[in-house]
Amino acid sequence: MSSSLLAELQAQCNQAGLNLFGIVDAARFDAAQPAEGRARQLQPGCGTILVLGSGGSSFWRHMVSSHGPLRAPAPDYHPVQEFAVAQTRTAQALLSAQGIRSRLVQPEDRKTLNFVQLGEAAGFGTVSPVIHILLHPRFGPWISLRAALLLEGMPFGPIDDASLQDRFQPCCNCEKPCISACPVGVHDGFGASDFSRCAHHRHAGNCVTACSVRRACPVGAAERFVAEEEAHRHAYSLFAMQKWYGLGSWRFVPRFLRQ
Ligand code: SF4
Ligand code: SF4
Repeated sequence: MSSSLLAELQAQCNQAGLNLFGIVDAARFDAAQPAEGRARQLQPGCGTILVLGSGGSSFWRHMVSSHGPLRAPAPDYHPVQEFAVAQTRTAQALLSAQGIRSRLVQPEDRKTLNFVQLGEAAGFGTVSPVIHILLHPRFGPWISLRAALLLEGMPFGPIDDASLQDRFQPCCNCEKPCISACPVGVHDGFGASDFSRCAHHRHAGNCVTACSVRRACPVGAAERFVAEEEAHRHAYSLFAMQKWYGLGSWRFVPRFLRQ
C-alpha cells in the first residue's frame, strides 16, 4: 500500500508541475543540522520528510494557467508561494486520508529547514562548492524547492540515501564561467562568497531581471526558466536580500526583527 500511495502522491504532484519529488529519512537529515533546523525539532515524531520541488518552467506554467495574469512582484504578493501551498495541501490531504499526519513547511517560513541541503538529500542534485546553489543533473540551477511535508513515523518504510554527491560533481573540471559572469565578484572561485556585494549592487538598480552567474552555468542550460518566471523569481530574491542586509526601508528595522 505504501509504495502505491507514494506513486499516487508523486503522480498528483507531477500533474501540478512539482516534478521534483523525494523522500528523506528525518533522523539522517537531522544528524547534520543545527538544533533549530531539525525536522524533529519542528515536528516531534517526524520520521520521513517528503520534499517537493520543480525543475524548469513546468510549475510556473501550471501556476499561471491556474492563477491568470500576475501583478508586478511586491513583498506582500506571493502567487507562486500560494500555489505551492495549495498543491502541497492536496498531497497532505491524500496522506491524511490514509491516516498519515504531517506538517507543511516552506523555505520562506520563519522557522524552517535548510532546503538546499534537503534538496540534496532528496536526490535533486549537488550543492555547487563554487556558487553554493543546488545543481540538478538535468535542470542545472533552474530548480526551486517549494515545500516539504514532515510526516509522522516512516509510513513508506526505510529510506535509502538518495544523494547524488558521489557521482554528480559538475563543478569539478569546469572552466567556471559563473565566476567571471558576476560584475562585482560575489564568488571568488574557491568557495567563498560575499552576498552582501550582490545585495548592494542589486539594490543600486543593477542585475534587474536576472543573475548572470546562474545564466553562465552550462549545466541544464536548455531548461532555463522562461523570461517572465526568471524576472519574477529574481525580484523576490532582491526583496529577501534587502530585508536581510537592512537596505531601503529595512534600515530602520533592528536586525533581530528582520530575521
Ligand atoms: S559554471 Fe561550472 S563551476 Fe560554475 S556552478 Fe556551473 S558547473 Fe559549477
Ligand atoms: S545578481 Fe548580479 S551581483 Fe548578484 S550574483 Fe548575480 S550577477 Fe552577481
